Amino acid sequence: QQGDADGDHVAFYSQDMNQGMQERMRIETGLRHALGNGQLLLHYQPKFSISTGKIIGAEALVRWHHPERGLVPPAEFIPLAEATGLVVQVGEWVLEAACAQAQKWKEAGLPPIRLAVNVSAREFTSALPGRVTETLKRYGLEPSWLELEITESTLMHNIDRVIGIMDRITALGVTLSLDDFGTGYSSLSYLKRFPIDTLKIDRSFTTGIPADANDCAIASTIISIAQQLKHKVIAEGVETVEQLAFLKSSGCDEVQGYLFSQPLPAAQFEQALRDNWRPAQADKAA
Ligand code: C2E
Ligand code: MG
Ligand code: MG
Ligand code: MG
Repeated sequence: QQGDADGDHVAFYSQDMNQGMQERMRIETGLRHALGNGQLLLHYQPKFSISTGKIIGAEALVRWHHPERGLVPPAEFIPLAEATGLVVQVGEWVLEAACAQAQKWKEAGLPPIRLAVNVSAREFTSALPGRVTETLKRYGLEPSWLELEITESTLMHNIDRVIGIMDRITALGVTLSLDDFGTGYSSLSYLKRFPIDTLKIDRSFTTGIPADANDCAIASTIISIAQQLKHKVIAEGVETVEQLAFLKSSGCDEVQGYLFSQPLPAAQFEQALRDNWRPAQADKAA
C-alpha cells in the first residue's frame, strides 16, 4: 500500500512537471508566433520632471495582444522568454518598434523626448552597441532619443566586459538607467564605475512612502547616492500625492507612476505630448 501511495505520488509529481513543461512550451511557441505575426505592441508610460511637471520621456513597455487571452502583460511572458533566450528576439522587436514610433513622433514635429527601452541581461552582449547604432541610423534618430533601462542582474557577470559594452553605448550618446534599483545585488563600489545617467528607485520602496520609515530612508538614501555620484534619479510606481511630496522634498528629479498616467497606447501618449500635458497632481505637491 505504501508503495502504491509512493507510486501515485511520483505519478502526480511528474504529471505536474509535465503540465508545467507543456505550459512553458505552449507559451514559447505562442510567443514565437506572436513575434512573426504582429501580436506584440508597445505601451508608453510618461516620465515627468518634478520641477516643471512636464513630460520628459516615456518608458516603452511590451504587451502581447493574444487572440484568445487579450492583452497579456510582460510579467506573463518576459521571464519565460528570458529563460529560453527568446527575449533576444523580443528585445530586437522592441528596439525596432520603439525607434519606428520615435521617428513618427519626430516627423510629426512633437517635442523631442527620451524613449526608454528595457533590456534584459541576455541581450546585453557585445552585439548590442552595433545594433543600436544601426537602428538609430536607419530611423534617422539622434541618440538622445534613446535610453536603455538595465537591471542589476545585467551587472552581475563579468563586470569589466559589461562596463565595456556600457561605455560603447554611452559613447554613442544613448543614455543608460539602472532599473529597479535597490532590489538586486550590485555593489556600491561598482556603482561608481558604471557610466549610467539615471537611477530608478524601485516601486517596492516608493509604495511604502510615507508610512514605512524604512522605505522612506531607503528612497532618500538612493536619492542622495545618485546626487553624490552626479546621476539623475527617478522614482517608479508613484501613486499618491504624499509619495510625490516626499520625493520632491528629498530632491528626486523625476517621477513615473499611476498618479500621473498608466502606460498608454501610442496614440494616447502622443495626445498627451501634443497637449504638453501637465497633470493637475504635479501642482499639489508644489
Ligand atoms: P519595469 O521596467 O520596472 O516597468 C515598470 C512596471 O511598473 C510596468 O509594468 C508599469 O506598468 C508598472 N507601473 C508603473 N507605474 C506604476 C504604478 O504607479 N503602480 C503600479 N502598481 N505599477 C506601475 P509592466 O508594463 O507590466 O512591466 C513589468 C516588467 O516587465 C517591467 O518592469 C520590465 O521588467 C518587464 N518588461 C516590460 N517591457 C519589457 C521589454 O520590452 N523588454 C524587457 N526585457 N522587459 C520588459
Ligand atoms: Mg523599466
Ligand atoms: Mg522599473
Ligand atoms: Mg520595477
